[in-house]
Amino acid sequence: MRKTAATDCDHRDCDSDALRWTSRRQHPADTQVECANTRIGGGFTLIAGPCAVESERQVLQTAEFLSRLGVRLMRGGAFKPRSSPYSFQGLGLEGLQMLQRARQEFGVGIVTEVLDIEHVGRVEQVADVIQLGARSMQNYPLLKRVGRCEKPVLLKRGMSATIEEWLLAAEYVLGAGNPRVILCERGVRSFGDHARNVLDLSVVPALRPRTHLPVVIDPSHASGDARLVPALAQAALAAGADGLLIEVHPNPAEALCDGPQALDFKAFEGLLARLRSIAAALSVEMR
Ligand code: PEP
Ligand code: MN
Repeated sequence: MRKTAATDCDHRDCDSDALRWTSRRQHPADTQVECANTRIGGGFTLIAGPCAVESERQVLQTAEFLSRLGVRLMRGGAFKPRSSPYSFQGLGLEGLQMLQRARQEFGVGIVTEVLDIEHVGRVEQVADVIQLGARSMQNYPLLKRVGRCEKPVLLKRGMSATIEEWLLAAEYVLGAGNPRVILCERGVRSFGDHARNVLDLSVVPALRPRTHLPVVIDPSHASGDARLVPALAQAALAAGADGLLIEVHPNPAEALCDGPQALDFKAFEGLLARLRSIAAALSVEMR
């Protein structure tokens, strides 16, 4: 009989029979994904940056700031999945060039989203990690296509996806030949209106017995509110996540996308100091 509740699980018998490549049973050791000048898994890795690439100045300023703080992965979207077709859609290929320049000048690894099969080749040239957003978790042709890429894939959980659906989405990528998948929890839809989504931190302990893949937490999309982000980020570290994906912007009030949830540089620095002391107390290596 198939077991579904997390409480039914232990390391031997918890994973669904449907899982092959992602299953802990097939691969007992934790996967560590090497990317750019760092890795994700077996420590706590920070990924930060603006929701969208807006200008060369904004991206270079952020890259300079992050590299000064020792954050090695910068995330920014050149292609943005927006609920409204009238919202800023991203700078597209021009945005990719700006990310490339940031990598060349400051040595930051680049995490950026691909929305379309058509753009996978171009995104892969620039990205150190290819992001598949929550809305793309069930885009099966795209999952198969990034499964043929040489770069790691950060796979966000769909906003109403179960753990099994999420892992099955990851199966498409691994099954197509790309073993370097990082799962990213970004909050799920619920009825509350105090936050954009509900951060489901229970996925961290629930995923561990099921899969060997690393899991990072995105407290920015989970909350939609910069005032809530630091507490959720610290909780993610304490819960045993492998890292964070956080939105940070040189001037959140002027952001073209997701400004209310972006930390400014000062708030990000303050959070980093608190994370470092929690990591030290837990003997977790922060990268
Ligand atoms: C994003 O990462 O900026 C984004 C749009 O996130 P999500 O896919 O989680 O909604
Ligand atoms: Mn965003």
